[in-house]
Amino acid sequence: MGGLDTYLQRFSQSQAPLSDQHLAAAIRSLPGGGYASLPSSGRRRWLEELLAVVDDRSAGAGPSSGVKPETVAPSPRPAASAAKKRTRPAAARQAVQTVGQASLDSPVSALKGVSRTTLSRFARLGVHTVHDLLFHFPYRYNDFANIRPISQLVVGEEQTVLATVWSAAETTIGRRSKGTEAIVGDETGKLRVIWWGQRYIARQLRSGAQVALSGKVSVYRGQRQMESPEYELLASDDLIHTGRLVPVYSLTKGLWPRVVRRLAREALDSFADSVPDPMPPELKERLRLWSLPYALRQMHYPDSMETAQMARRCLAFQELLTIQLGVLKRRRAWQESGRAYPLALSQEALDGFLSSLAFTLTQAQRRVMDEMAADIGREVPMSRLLQGDVGSGKTVVATVGLLAAVASGCQGAMMAPTEILAEQHYRTICALLGDGGERILDGGAFQPPYMEKPVRVVLLIGSLRGKEKAAIQEAIARGEVDIAIGTHALIQSEVAFPRLGLVVVDEQHRFGVMQRAALRAKGLSPHMLVMTATPIPRTLALTVYGDLDISLIDEMPSGRKVVKTIRALPHERDEVYGFVREEVAKGRQTYIICPLVEESEAIAAKAAVQEYEHLARDVFSDLRLGLVHGRVPSAEREAEMRAFRDGNLDILVSTAVVEVGIDVANATIMLVEGADRFGLSQLHQFRGRVGRGEHQSYCILQADNPSQEAQERLSLMETIYDGFRLAEEDLRLRGPGEYFGTRQTGMPDLKVARLSDIDLIERARAEAARLLKADPPLALPEHRLIERQVSHLWERITAEVS
Ligand code: ADP
Ligand code: MG
Repeated sequence: MGGLDTYLQRFSQSQAPLSDQHLAAAIRSLPGGGYASLPSSGRRRWLEELLAVVDDRSAGAGPSSGVKPETVAPSPRPAASAAKKRTRPAAARQAVQTVGQASLDSPVSALKGVSRTTLSRFARLGVHTVHDLLFHFPYRYNDFANIRPISQLVVGEEQTVLATVWSAAETTIGRRSKGTEAIVGDETGKLRVIWWGQRYIARQLRSGAQVALSGKVSVYRGQRQMESPEYELLASDDLIHTGRLVPVYSLTKGLWPRVVRRLAREALDSFADSVPDPMPPELKERLRLWSLPYALRQMHYPDSMETAQMARRCLAFQELLTIQLGVLKRRRAWQESGRAYPLALSQEALDGFLSSLAFTLTQAQRRVMDEMAADIGREVPMSRLLQGDVGSGKTVVATVGLLAAVASGCQGAMMAPTEILAEQHYRTICALLGDGGERILDGGAFQPPYMEKPVRVVLLIGSLRGKEKAAIQEAIARGEVDIAIGTHALIQSEVAFPRLGLVVVDEQHRFGVMQRAALRAKGLSPHMLVMTATPIPRTLALTVYGDLDISLIDEMPSGRKVVKTIRALPHERDEVYGFVREEVAKGRQTYIICPLVEESEAIAAKAAVQEYEHLARDVFSDLRLGLVHGRVPSAEREAEMRAFRDGNLDILVSTAVVEVGIDVANATIMLVEGADRFGLSQLHQFRGRVGRGEHQSYCILQADNPSQEAQERLSLMETIYDGFRLAEEDLRLRGPGEYFGTRQTGMPDLKVARLSDIDLIERARAEAARLLKADPPLALPEHRLIERQVSHLWERITAEVS
C-alpha cells in the first residue's frame, strides 16, 4: 500500500537483515522525489540493479559476475548489464557441501517425504542422489502463462487449459484398448479428454477437482478433445504461483510429475548452492557464464523461455568443455608418451612415384599429402583422420606415406577391416609399386626405379597356412619386411615390428582409439593415418573424433562417370529385374542389398536368406547368385565375395550389415531394396560400390511403401552426389541418433548439449585448447574440479570402448 516509496521508507527504518550497504546505497541513489519520480526506463534500471544485488546476497543465486552473459548465452535480462561489477562474498562462493546431515551425494530420500518406492522409481531413471536429481533436467516446460479458455482452443496445437473435472471413468476405447475418459469444463465450455491405456487416471480425477491439462487438441466425431495430455491436479498445489513455466520431466511408472517437481524444487532450494561449480572463474568471467547454481535453477524453474534457453546453453557449454578437454588431453597424451620416427620421402622419389602413376593427383590429394608429410616429418606421432568420399583416391595418399616410412628406414603397416579388403589393398599397393607387377624380385620385393632399395610388401591374414604365416611374422620381426598389409589382427597378434614408422587404418575409424591403445601397450608410437569414406559432419568430427587432426579430400578425380541413380516403386519391380537381366547378359554384375531389418542380426540374416531363395528360385533361376550376411562365418563370406570379384557370380545378395567394401569394376548395378529405410549416407556408400570401372553404372533405389517424405528424401540421391552434403542432409533430416543407427562407440552421450550446437562446440574446443596450453595437467587449484569431471567422463568412455 502506498507504492514502492512507502515500502522502502518502512524498510529502511526497520532493522531488516538485508538493509546492508548495497541496499542502503541503492535507496540513497534515488532522487529526492523517490522511485515515483523516475522515468520508466530509470525505474527499470534501478530495480534491476537492486535485484541483481539481492540475487547475489541470497547465497549465490545470481549470475556469477552480474555482467550480461552475452558471449555464450545472450541475456534477456538487461538486469545484469546495468549492475555494477561486484564480487560475491567469499562465504557464498565457498561451496557448502552439506545441509544438516544431508549432502549432494545423499540418496534422494534425504529430501522430505521420499518413500522407498519413490526412491526405487527414481533409481529406474538413473537418479540416485540429490546431485543426480539436480541434473535430471526437464525436457520441456508447460507454459502456464499461456492458458486458454476451452472455447478458444485451437485444433492441432499444444495448449494448456485450467478446468474442473466433471466426470472421469475407466472406459473401453475402440474394441480392446482400455483407458480413461474424462469430461472437464470451465466457464466457456466443456472438453472430452482421453488417456489411452492409463486407467489409473480415472481414480485420480475426482469430480470437482481442478486440473491443468496440456496437450494437443484434436477433433473426434465433430467434438474437440485432448488425447493423453499432461495433467496436473491443482488442488493444494502452488505450481501456478511458483512460476509460469512449469518443468516437465521424463518419468517412470508410478512417479508423478508433481512429486518430481516438488522434489526438484526442494533439491534446488536446499542444495543448488552447494553444487561445486567446476568452471574456472576466469573463464566464467570472460565468457559471462552463469554460476552453476543459478543455471540449475533456471533450467528447472526458468523465469522465461529465454532464461531456460540460456541456462541450457551454459550447462551445455560446460558439458562440451569437459568433452573437449578430455579429447585434447587424450591427444596430448598420445603425442607425448612416445616418440615417432620422423619420416620423409625425397623430392626425387616422390616425383618418381607420381610420374609412374597412370593419372595425376587432384589438388585435394596433393594438399592432403602435404598435410601428412608435414606431420610425419616430426617426432610427435601424427593422429590424422583422412576423410574422402568413396573413390576419391585415399589409397595413393596412404601409399606415399608408406613409401616415406620405407625411405626413412622404417616399416609401414596398413590395416583393413576384412581380409578381402586387405587383399585388395595388397594388390593395389603392389601394382602401384611394381608398375603393374612386372618388376617383382625374389622374395616378393619390388625395385621401383625411384627407391634406393627394394621394397618388400607382405600380406598377413588369418587364412594363411600356419607355416607361411610364421615365416612372414619372422620376416617382419627381423625387419626384412617394409610394408605389411593385413587385418587388425596384424597389430593385435604377436607380430613385433622393430621399426614401425606409420600405421594406416582403413575404414575403421571407430576402432582407431583401441588400436592406438594396443600399439601403445606394445611400446610403439608410430604415426597414424585413419582413413574413412564415411562422411563425418564437422560437429561430430570435433567431438567424437576430436583428438584427431582432419584432412579432407573434397574433390573427385576428373572424368568419373556419374552413377545414374533411379528411384523405383513397388509396381516397377519386374522392370527392374528385367534391367538386371539385360546387364548380366552383357556380362556385368549386380549387387542386391536386402531391406534393413531392425530387430536383430539373426532376423536380418533370415530375411536375407528368404530374399535370396526367392530370387534364386523364382526370378533369376538361370543366373549365378551368391549370398552374404552377418551370420555367415567370415571365411565363407570372404569366399563368396571372392567368387563375385572373380566374376564367378552374377548377382551378390547382401544384407546391409556386411560391408561390401570390395572393388569390382565389372559390377554396374547396385539395387537397394527397401531403400526408404536407409539413411542417405548409407545409400551413398552402397552407390559407391559401383561405377568403379569403365561401364556406365546404376544405383536403383527400390522403395517398399514410400511416404511423401521418404520420396523427397530419396530424391536427394538423384541430385546430390557429394557424400558430405548427403551426410549433412541426413543429419539434418534424421538427427544424430538415426544417422548412426546405433550409438557410436566412444561417443560421450550428451545430456544437455546437442550436436547442432555448432557455435558452442567450437567455442568449447577453443577454450579447452587455451586451458590446456596454460595448465597442461589441469593441476592449478581453479582447474581441479573440472579436471575431476574430465577424468570421470573418460573413465566411463574407456570402460565402454574396451
Ligand atoms: P578410396 O578413396 O575410395 O579408397 P581409391 O584410393 O581406391 O579410393 O581410388 C579409387 C580409384 O581411383 C583407384 O582405381 C585409383 O587408382 C583411382 N585414382 C586415385 N586417384 C586418382 C586421380 N587423381 N585421378 C584418377 N584416378 C585416380
Ligand atoms: Mg579405399
